[in-house]
Amino acid sequence: MTMIRKINHVGIAVSSLDEHIPFYRDVLGLTFAGTEEVPGQKVRVAMFQVGEVKIELLEPLSEESPIAKFIEKKGEGIHHLAYETDDIENELEGMKAKEIRLIDEEPRHGAHGSRIAFLHPRSSAKVLTELCQSGEE
Ligand code: ZN
Repeated sequence: MTMIRKINHVGIAVSSLDEHIPFYRDVLGLTFAGTEEVPGQKVRVAMFQVGEVKIELLEPLSEESPIAKFIEKKGEGIHHLAYETDDIENELEGMKAKEIRLIDEEPRHGAHGSRIAFLHPRSSAKVLTELCQSGEE
């Protein structure tokens, strides 16, 4: 049986990475792991490491990006919480069996070769929740 043992990252929606990277890198002094485009989600992400947890800033690449819609509705801010799993398929099957509403029935590609799936926030007190299985680095 698979288990969720830790938070992998916190996703924060921003309208501009350039504007917000300096706070996380230079003021908080987090380890900056670079930026990457994730075409599947129409975003560019900047990753920071703090202990075992990452902070993921998400900048929309187009108006159709879910991040663009989020910022339009709610403004910049915390977008999602990502829990790490070592078997995302199994975890999703378990969620389906428990009738948890999913956004992604199947895992899709996230940053750094990871595979991710979002659960519907209705099941999690309106916190958009991501399952995340790290890729081979
Ligand atoms: Zn994420």
